[in-house]
Amino acid sequence: MIIMESETKTPSCEAPVESGEALELNPWHQAMEQLERAGAQMRMEPLVLERLRHCKRILTVSVPVRMDDGSLAVFEGYRIQHNLDRGPAKGGIRYHPQVSLDEIKALAFWMTMKCAVVNLPYGGAKGGVVCDPKKMSLGEVERLTRRYTSEISIIIGPDKDIPAPDVNTNEQIMAWMMDTYSMNIGYSCPGVVTGKPIEAGGSLGRREATGRGVFYVTRELANVRGFDLRKAPVIIQGFGNVGSNAAKIFAEHGCKVVGVSDVGGGLYDAKGLDIEDIAAYRSKHDTIAAYSKAEHIGVDPFLEVPCDILIPCAMENQITHRNAPKIKAKYIIEGANGPTTNEADRILNARGVMLVPDILANAGGVTVSYFEWVQDIQAYFWSEKDINARLQDIIVKAFREVYDLAQKERTDMRMAAFMVGLSRLAKTVRIRGTFP
Ligand code: GLU
Repeated sequence: MIIMESETKTPSCEAPVESGEALELNPWHQAMEQLERAGAQMRMEPLVLERLRHCKRILTVSVPVRMDDGSLAVFEGYRIQHNLDRGPAKGGIRYHPQVSLDEIKALAFWMTMKCAVVNLPYGGAKGGVVCDPKKMSLGEVERLTRRYTSEISIIIGPDKDIPAPDVNTNEQIMAWMMDTYSMNIGYSCPGVVTGKPIEAGGSLGRREATGRGVFYVTRELANVRGFDLRKAPVIIQGFGNVGSNAAKIFAEHGCKVVGVSDVGGGLYDAKGLDIEDIAAYRSKHDTIAAYSKAEHIGVDPFLEVPCDILIPCAMENQITHRNAPKIKAKYIIEGANGPTTNEADRILNARGVMLVPDILANAGGVTVSYFEWVQDIQAYFWSEKDINARLQDIIVKAFREVYDLAQKERTDMRMAAFMVGLSRLAKTVRIRGTFP
């Protein structure tokens, strides 16, 4: 599409024609609506905005896998690079039955924004495979991972695009990815993925980094808002890598985590839950739902439980126009990517609920991924103390920048985070110019 400097344009989300609730739940549509809103507020030049409306590279691959029963299954996978202006693309890989092209595009866009908000020298990417790893054997998951890695190796690499874990992927899967890529090129290349086991070039503190970043953001929020974090009841949705580590770190710092949940259901105790005990239980069971030493709450009512701080750490579209009016929390910290729809954002803003957006709140993960990549490239590894201190510096600085801008512009934190990220990105796009 040809666009002149003076022109503006309506969202170019190549989303299917959807309306009403389907549109509210389409992540790419939501992401583009956020971009348009921030672009308009900042009076961003149309040329930069137009660049960001499009993903730079979209790769769809078919991934044939020999299953344990001898049959052959072909899975669909994606790797999408939204933007590379500020450096190599960066972002996780998710394995989930509901993975879609629009979802991965949105997640790649949010990675571009996230890396810019915390000022990492990266663009944004995301990948995914449509599969249900919970129904697959370890061998099947390994073969899927190795073939998917080979398929996307035409666009990934330590200087090009660096994958990492996301929903349903972990350190073991990153080790297989690193090994597959290394086997194909003929030498060990730890810098091609982050979130690896320590033994394969991983970084200390990476596993806990997203949850730790969520905690640093919340502690800084308590500082600027002048409340005692230890007296503010917290509930956390999701008990995967982000939710379980966030719960542990909040509890370690003397905070009262009164609710935690996973796909099976929620647990509640007004006096505070024993997170270590629940984590130990979870390591032996598929879900925390049958844990006996707390009150049980269904998945849907869980988000409406009384608390001061709600931390969604599961999937997209958890807070919608349906439950936003009923949420009791004063503060929402987005540990997940895209957990709140734009419709819900408007309702929460009108109700005076303050929300710290994903592109700031969960940036701890990619920040320590950046440290891991730097350590791999230098082949020189840092102590966990160093890593956590540097992580805290970056997160606190970004939080203050966003918070101060929100105060100055009298706007919400999502808008302010977009403004911080977009203005950084726009400067780079402007100074690099347009090729040829
Ligand atoms: N998947 C994580 C995220 O959404 C981490 C990405 C990374 O470390 O590259 O931020």
